Amino acid sequence: MACLYFYYSAMSAGKTTSLLQTDHNYRERGMSTLLFTPALDTRYGPGVITSRLGIKKQAVTFDKDFDFFCYVKGARNAACVLVDEAQFLTQKQVDQLGEVVDLLGIPVLTYGLRTDFQGNNFDGSQRLLAIADILVELKTVCHCGKKATMNMRVDENGRKISIGEQIEIGGNEKYISVCRKHFRSGVSKKPKHE
Ligand SMILES: [Zn+2]
Repeated sequence: MACLYFYYSAMSAGKTTSLLQTDHNYRERGMSTLLFTPALDTRYGPGVITSRLGIKKQAVTFDKDFDFFCYVKGARNAACVLVDEAQFLTQKQVDQLGEVVDLLGIPVLTYGLRTDFQGNNFDGSQRLLAIADILVELKTVCHCGKKATMNMRVDENGRKISIGEQIEIGGNEKYISVCRKHFRSGVSKKPKHE
């Protein structure tokens, strides 16, 4: 039976690699897939899903007005729907993906961040955590060795940034996956004296 899956994690846990592996597995069995990625993520060119291991796949881009149910219904023979950066879905779009599962009988696998740089849920993630059939946590580690569950936004000197827009594109800041304790204290890397 088809299900709605949410694979969630902090950054750099291999979400995209996992998505592309699943896509490969379906295609190897002669089944077609539909891949989606947000229009705002153009780091590697529009509509391209790229894993850090270097694998790339073309994907359909979505913005906040995109209707997943209409698109998937109109596409023929999709055996599986895969959504990258699912934290950027709207709540309504997550509900549409639920309809893809329930009314069209097609499994939907979404991959995204649980929380933003302030430790709050993204809209898409909040809705997925509420209605997905199956929640799967992909794990990565903090510099201290504990599970990293938070995404710390840091400046070029590794200092925590706590204020700003939820989505920053093209700035100099970057993100580091850390545990809750180090998210709170703002320690982004292992101190040298340890
Ligand atoms: Zn830690």
